[in-house]
Amino acid sequence: MYANVLVEYNVKSLDKSFTYKIPSNLVDKIKPGMQVIVPFGKSICNGFVLNLTNEVNEDVEIKSIYKIKNEEIILNQELLALGLYLKETTLCNLISAYEAMLPSDVKVKSKKVNNKYVTYIKIAVALSKVEDYIKDHARSKKQISILNQLLEEEMVLKTAISGTSLNELLRIGLVCEEQVQVYRINKDNKKKDLVKLNDYQMKVFDEVVFNEAKTYLLHGVTGSGKTEIYIKWIKKALNLKKTALLLVPEITLTTQIVNRLYDVFGCDIAILHSGLSDGERQDEYLKILRKEVRVVVGTRSSAFAPLENIGVMIIDEEHSESYKQENNPKYDAIEVLKKRSLNHQCPLILGSATPSLDSYARASKGVYQLLELNKRANDAMLPIIHLVNMEEEYKKRNMIISSMLKEFMEARLNNHEQIILLLNRRGYSTILNCSNCGFTYKCPHCDINLTYHKTNNHLRCHYCGYTTFLKDKCPNCKSDAINDFGLGTEKLEKEVSKLFPSARIIRMDADTTTKKNSHDEIIKKFANYEYDILLGTQMISKGLDFPKVTLVGIVNADQSLNMPDFKASERTFQLLHQASGRAGRSSSIGEVIIQTMNPTDYTLNCIKDNNYQMFYKHEMQIRKNLKYPPYYYLALVKIISKDYDTVLKESNKVYKYLLKNLSNVEILGPTTAPIFKMNNKYTMQIIIKYRKADNLYKVLKELDNQYLLDKLTNIEIDTSPKNI
Ligand code: ADP
Ligand code: ZN
Ligand code: ZN
Repeated sequence: MYANVLVEYNVKSLDKSFTYKIPSNLVDKIKPGMQVIVPFGKSICNGFVLNLTNEVNEDVEIKSIYKIKNEEIILNQELLALGLYLKETTLCNLISAYEAMLPSDVKVKSKKVNNKYVTYIKIAVALSKVEDYIKDHARSKKQISILNQLLEEEMVLKTAISGTSLNELLRIGLVCEEQVQVYRINKDNKKKDLVKLNDYQMKVFDEVVFNEAKTYLLHGVTGSGKTEIYIKWIKKALNLKKTALLLVPEITLTTQIVNRLYDVFGCDIAILHSGLSDGERQDEYLKILRKEVRVVVGTRSSAFAPLENIGVMIIDEEHSESYKQENNPKYDAIEVLKKRSLNHQCPLILGSATPSLDSYARASKGVYQLLELNKRANDAMLPIIHLVNMEEEYKKRNMIISSMLKEFMEARLNNHEQIILLLNRRGYSTILNCSNCGFTYKCPHCDINLTYHKTNNHLRCHYCGYTTFLKDKCPNCKSDAINDFGLGTEKLEKEVSKLFPSARIIRMDADTTTKKNSHDEIIKKFANYEYDILLGTQMISKGLDFPKVTLVGIVNADQSLNMPDFKASERTFQLLHQASGRAGRSSSIGEVIIQTMNPTDYTLNCIKDNNYQMFYKHEMQIRKNLKYPPYYYLALVKIISKDYDTVLKESNKVYKYLLKNLSNVEILGPTTAPIFKMNNKYTMQIIIKYRKADNLYKVLKELDNQYLLDKLTNIEIDTSPKNI
């Protein structure tokens, strides 16, 4: 018997299987999907058994499998096939696809994660013997009490009864030890009742057909009670004797939703996310494999949870970009679950208050079935939104907090209500704007903001390569107030505490949440009303439900609007709409203040009117005119080299190759990547816009193969880029 084994090395040239002999002692044990240790070259490495075979090529020397790495963690047939699907659609190496599915690193060198055990004591002999012993040793009180306890409880923790009496019982063999695995995460099984769905929720709930592969888009305004419907769907799947999978964005951002699920399903849940320790993650994975849980909640990689017989799959906040993996395998969890919904013939539901344009366009065309919820669940009103013109405020020297926001904050503080302030900022923003008139530099060809490159004083379009020089004066108002708007959370915190010295302020951003669980703690404290004001970045905009929050202030709406990306408006809509949704989620009405230099901006006005459809129609027109998704699909080819001349030369070669081999596509570039030089490597990129894939994957795969052994140049391909 032989096995075809894929080795652990994630390099293109080893992306194929090698045949090994199965030694006689392992013949009945080795199965496809199992991790094994094999000799490879002069050393040993980890591998994956792809399949078993009787046929071998007699000409080459065949080595034997050395041993099994883990008998329990095996990829099932569905996941093995899913790996092949990922390889084909994302052009990754097969090993990286399988690695993405497993709870821990496959490499031999990686630290082994051990199961955690505790020692129990139990009776080791026939009961009559114990009874005889008790009769004969009436004076050994301690021993007898241990034996009586064991007769009653069967197993007792060793630490609870240890001592000389126990040692004696162990020595004479009346009792023995037993190792029992304990999971690092344990939830009690107290269960709370389900909320009774209102008529609107009930209607949505009933629309979903179980036992049929179909994708639904649930577009429900913030607070419309989507989570409660998810819970009912999951419950229904369990009643049908099936399992359920729920994906959430970053789990730390959604602690509240996870806790709600624990309330309902108790210990019937496994959670999987990057915040777990290796041990915790392996335990949770084992719970699924051992079929001890029927519900899995987790982030992107949980799309590969080894659940069997799935009855429903749900993706919350489906617009979130965290569902797309940026490094290999560059998969999109939504696409993975669509594939799995076919495998399991079960519904897939995408939920969001602000669906991605892609998803909404599909729903409009009937590719997905659209489900809508326009009302908040507990009769709370949607918030009232005000736009404040910061141009006017700058003239009054209100540089950070407008007079209106200040006034509103004062009123909330006096009323003992809570406030959230959002600083809209992404790490690498180098967008220049004029603090006098709000002018920003845009590319004349792409309607995208230009990025500033300090080194050569250039402004550049990362999309088409258009470049211009920065002038000293603002081209619009001729003032010299052009600057990059670099307001940080710390500065904001200082300003707010200056304005409201007695307010209790807590800050949440990348700096204050580095420690494990610090995110949860901030949220818990704020929810307990230990603070009046929560201020922070994007992190605070999603999924949180604080009844006492009645005011949300968006300090600088323009930052994300001005990103050099065709999705800037879409992202801004999502971010600000989600953030606004934090206001007034209970009986008192919420208000939102959006501070902006562009009060007439279309996107901001759609947010103001709580009007997703209006935004959708307008933005789709722009996408159509400029041939962006969802009208066109994109593929991104990156050409990377340490050598400057090589990267330029090779990117032109790649461009010509694509031009020659692809038809009915638009090829843009080569241009510099958003970060041209990184780790002393240069990256150029080429963007392919297409409507039908035709031979695209084949041509890209061949391109990839051409650079297989090239030491100087590397090619990276993303067939569904979310950032370009
Ligand atoms: P979403 O996920 O759509 O933003 P949630 O599911 O978080 O909304 O619900 C918002 C609030 O409304 C929560 O406090 C929730 O407990 C409450 N809620 C949801 N459904 C109902 C219902 N049928 N009856 C009463 N309260 C509900
Ligand atoms: Zn351009
Ligand atoms: Zn200006």
